[in-house]
Amino acid sequence: MRVYFDYNATTPLSPEVLDALIGTSRDIFGNASSVHHFGQQAKAALDQARSALATLLNADPSEIVFTAGGTESDNFAIRGAADALEPTGRRHLVASAIEHEAVLNTLKALARRGWRTTLIPLTASGIVDPERVRAAVTDETALVSVMHANNEIGTIQPIAEIAAIAHERGALMHTDAVQSAGKIPVDVRALGVDLLSLSAHKFNGPKGAGILWVKRGTRMQPILTGGKHERSRRAGTENVPAIAGMGVAAAQARTKMTAEGARVGALRDRLEAGILREVPGTQVNGSREHRVPNTTNVSFDRVEAETLLIALDLEGIAVSTGSACSSGTLEPSHVLRAMGLPAPRTQSSLRFSLGLFSTEAEVDRVIAVLPQLVEKLRGLARKPAHAGR
Ligand code: PLP
Repeated sequence: MRVYFDYNATTPLSPEVLDALIGTSRDIFGNASSVHHFGQQAKAALDQARSALATLLNADPSEIVFTAGGTESDNFAIRGAADALEPTGRRHLVASAIEHEAVLNTLKALARRGWRTTLIPLTASGIVDPERVRAAVTDETALVSVMHANNEIGTIQPIAEIAAIAHERGALMHTDAVQSAGKIPVDVRALGVDLLSLSAHKFNGPKGAGILWVKRGTRMQPILTGGKHERSRRAGTENVPAIAGMGVAAAQARTKMTAEGARVGALRDRLEAGILREVPGTQVNGSREHRVPNTTNVSFDRVEAETLLIALDLEGIAVSTGSACSSGTLEPSHVLRAMGLPAPRTQSSLRFSLGLFSTEAEVDRVIAVLPQLVEKLRGLARKPAHAGR
């Protein structure tokens, strides 16, 4: 049995999304900007997807800008707002220390252009304290960017409170909802944000498709210049099949959210309880109350996380040591560090993220395999280096 518990890295396509991808690729090849029948067919497919995404987010379809995924959406949000607001004298950006690299490295790029940036540290439970945001935001802040749910530990951030603080100072508020959209309700009006990123491949849609939701009236500069696509906000011929697939994924996520959230949440809880019970020296990282239902991040005392990950992979079980982008680097997780966890714990933590095709049998397999693996690795670590030679 192969077990895939790395849904936060990416998800398999749902059968209906695959049908939409194949059907659209085969039947709709027109350029959505063309006035003739073929173009209008493609435009209709885009409009349908736009409506599905708007419904998922309680947004207006005109506010949806299609992108090539979460990374582009985050870049567009930050660079687009920065470029639009620079002439007003606002040259300061605020973000949490646990943002995805798509946000953190974009801030670094702007810092090299002379922007001031402030990263907000975390509480031990992996939640951003709004009061620390209040202390950081000034009348020169252009944008505050705090993710809705964290990719490594799953914690859900108090976005509405933080957005209100940003707005008090006249700053824009962006949230990276890549790990929450499709898993928990994401209502742009209730969150009170101006900009929101999501990515289709995190909720059983295709890779390379995402959106930036831009609240009507928000001043933004495009980061891709060219034709007048997407109301002149994002140039380039749209990837119609991927966008159609994303639309189907959004519609499915919305209808299944309550039932799937409960099902996956129960599986995650079973897995977590099983690990804590069967493997001594384990702890859950981050708040267990305020988090998405599919994620748990567990540290295994005296075990090198990368070694355990490989041992699990040899057993056919796929998990992660953190964000996919930084795995393989042996860098301790910036998220766990920002929570103030001691180094040994940051280096011994694994993320288990479940999803649409996860089953109880898979959970039980992981619980059955882990104790012996961990015991073996701890035993090896105890042996002196020359032993056995
Ligand atoms: N933001 C978060 C929180 C993510 O988890 C990811 C993906 O790992 C991204 C952004 C980047 O999204 P994409 O892979 O669509 O570029």
